[in-house]
Amino acid sequence: MSCDWGWTGHWLGGNTLILILLMITGAILTILFLKNKADKYHCPTCQGAVENEYLRCPHCGTTLKKHCPGCSGIIKAKWNYCPECQAEIHKKLE
Ligand SMILES: [Zn+2]
Ligand SMILES: [Zn+2]
Repeated sequence: MSCDWGWTGHWLGGNTLILILLMITGAILTILFLKNKADKYHCPTCQGAVENEYLRCPHCGTTLKKHCPGCSGIIKAKWNYCPECQAEIHKKLE
């Protein structure tokens, strides 16, 4: 039954190849993920490089963060409530 053996061997070989490919893909994804984490923040509108503490994108003027009207703490532009003082932030019409 050389035919059966050949088939089994081929099947196992294919599986091993897929396993190796998966491991390589996993390693590449891990490297990319770590690289992305190390990268600086980017503006959601223009993708320009911004610092974490920037309130406004220096490239296109998009509001990245703002000050809470209640406690003056820095909050994200999309937040509707301040996590610090629980103040409700009303969205301004832009
Ligand atoms: Zn921008
Ligand atoms: Zn607040």
